[in-house]
Amino acid sequence: MRVLLQFPEGLKRHAFSYAAKLEAEGHEVVLSASACYGGCDLALDEAKAIGASEIVHFGHAKFPIPQPVDIPVEYVEWRFDVPQASLDSCLQALSGYTKIALVTTVQHVHELERMKSFFEKSGIDALTRKGALCAYEGQVLGCDGTAASIPEAEAVLFVGDGMFHPLAIDEDRPVYVLNPYNGKVSRINEEIGRLRKRRDGALAACIEAKKFAVLVSIKPGQSHLKVAQYAKRLLEDLGREAHILVGNELSPLSLQNFMHFEAYVNTACPRLADDWEMFGKPIINLDQLERMAKMLKDSA
Ligand code: SF4
Repeated sequence: MRVLLQFPEGLKRHAFSYAAKLEAEGHEVVLSASACYGGCDLALDEAKAIGASEIVHFGHAKFPIPQPVDIPVEYVEWRFDVPQASLDSCLQALSGYTKIALVTTVQHVHELERMKSFFEKSGIDALTRKGALCAYEGQVLGCDGTAASIPEAEAVLFVGDGMFHPLAIDEDRPVYVLNPYNGKVSRINEEIGRLRKRRDGALAACIEAKKFAVLVSIKPGQSHLKVAQYAKRLLEDLGREAHILVGNELSPLSLQNFMHFEAYVNTACPRLADDWEMFGKPIINLDQLERMAKMLKDSA
């Protein structure tokens, strides 16, 4: 069987050992050289182009793809245990709370039950719920931090490294990050506040813009043409010029020569908009466009 292997950047160094293992089992193995950002980002076109019978997608959990996927996809999640010493190190920061929302990435979801009983023994009720786009209870994605929205929780604890996932938690309650690799605990409400301000800055710049491009991705889990058509109509109703741009990799490089446009409305990965300064033009997501439409109508 011909198999296409897909790895996110951080795991590409493991690609060769998996390829060798599958080849030893008699499979023909091809490695995807494209960047891979999430379970939303299945290399369907590459699989079709090489006639693969299956995609093996590493490092992410299954993501709800809003279109038929006509090739079998095997998700191989990546696991990393949370050292007990790291858990011990966050108790001081959490002292005074009796109920917390506990969230993590797919790498550590297998540790949630152990973490919950540890906190319970320490007098803290660690609550979990499932986000709409996530495969597991207690899991967060960069585009879905809703697992942290548990009304009775007094604070949120995210267990994982990096800032990409915890910044999906748009909460006013105290939000703590425990890095399981080094046991460091930090409170990130200032960073959440800064991100909100940057998003508001992009929205304010878009209010002044007259020529918009609406960005559509062909990545299977990020592809929302109907949403883009709705955004285009909304912009035109506001008297703005709007065109739809479609692409796989929507990057500063791929868009840099569309000098005509003054701003972008993004319908792909919502976190693309957080990097709007890199694009040199403001980028807003649909919810911000709807806010902008309301503000303009209210002020008319
Ligand atoms: S849409 Fe963006 S944040 Fe969501 S899974 Fe895909 S890459 Fe990650």
